[in-house]
Amino acid sequence: MKYKIVMKRADCIGCGACSAVCDNWEMNSDNKARPKQSTISEEELKCNKEAAEMCPVKCIQIKKTGK
Ligand code: SF4
Repeated sequence: MKYKIVMKRADCIGCGACSAVCDNWEMNSDNKARPKQSTISEEELKCNKEAAEMCPVKCIQIKKTGK
């Protein structure tokens, strides 16, 4: 199963929590986060899920791709 990360960048407040808990997240020069990869595997799901749960504005969603 693969998962797709959907992020509402406009809502990101640049707190850095996602990048602190998961290597797949980095802060951009505009001080908003972005996922390095937007399609992730089962193995990569755990920390990305943590990032989504940590996010204070809940702008990260993880969806199943069905594959
Ligand atoms: S945790 Fe949420 S608000 Fe904070 S930097 Fe990451 S995406 Fe932005």
